[in-house]
Amino acid sequence: MRVGRLGMNRMPLYPLRFEPIYQYRLWGGRRLSGLLSKPLPSDGPIGEAWVLSDRDDHQSQVANGPLKGQTIGELMEEFRDQLMGRLASRFRQFPLLLKFLDAREMLSVQVHPSDAHAELIPAGESAKTEAWVVIEANKGSRIYAGLKPGTTAGDLRHALATETIADHLVSIVPKPGDAVFIPAGTVHTLGDVVVFEVQQNSDVTFRLYDWGHVDAKTGQPRPLQVDRALASIDYANCDGGVVTPIVVTTAPVERERLFDCEHFLLWRLRGESPLNVGAAEMPRVLVCIEGSGWIEDDGSAYGIDKGEVWLLPAVVGRCEFHPNNAVTLLEIALPESS
Ligand SMILES: [Zn+2]
Repeated sequence: MRVGRLGMNRMPLYPLRFEPIYQYRLWGGRRLSGLLSKPLPSDGPIGEAWVLSDRDDHQSQVANGPLKGQTIGELMEEFRDQLMGRLASRFRQFPLLLKFLDAREMLSVQVHPSDAHAELIPAGESAKTEAWVVIEANKGSRIYAGLKPGTTAGDLRHALATETIADHLVSIVPKPGDAVFIPAGTVHTLGDVVVFEVQQNSDVTFRLYDWGHVDAKTGQPRPLQVDRALASIDYANCDGGVVTPIVVTTAPVERERLFDCEHFLLWRLRGESPLNVGAAEMPRVLVCIEGSGWIEDDGSAYGIDKGEVWLLPAVVGRCEFHPNNAVTLLEIALPESS
């Protein structure tokens, strides 16, 4: 087994755990401390934990094994075939950005451009479709996803002047476990909720409205990009919002497909029995959102705890996850072609 993997005398990849990168956000809170094992910075609101990021400015680092301290970007450079398998020729950067968000307050009302608006996307960036799995919610939680039918750019400009933008947005009261899909071009925001987020590896965001928030760090409101936001909105598309999970299997564990788009697939696995994860010659990501367990690969065991994010390199392929107790896992895949 080992010999087959070594290839050009290079170290074989193994299941990789990544350290979260915490980000100050004025709308953030402290709830990620209950979800992730790495301690939060000592004070201030933390809005985001970037748990897998191949962005030049924020590089996820391996936290386990001989490659500890290496960045995902370095791995994509040195081990791309082992990591990406059949997708190695398509991607120079890892194409997904994964985060946990703790939105104590409402985020800005924002939109990410789609490929239909290439002129709004800076060189080297991409469109951004994203999706959320709700982790924590309560009575005050709110998600806005998309426009009410018939809303025009003129309506939105008027609503900005009168601070009535929320009247034009589709409003959702989220519950834990809800899956929300936000295709590029969809106006969206969320507040008083903790979510896991999967998105295209892009950082192009246009803010339409920010609820009058003032950043405590600067004493200033944050800049808006109203014209570019209005130009990015796909006014005809109403595909966003809460999606109905598709049950794929019920034994040995429940496997539901939450998202299936041209950029990512995401399944939720729930149960207590051993289950298969990973895929031959394809990378997969596992996110443990409840419970704990371990996977076995090539004779070694890798313990997986709540809040952890693991990348299964393509060379690892399929392996078995053994729950210690009732677990909820998210498994994320890249589509074979898009
Ligand atoms: Zn967004």
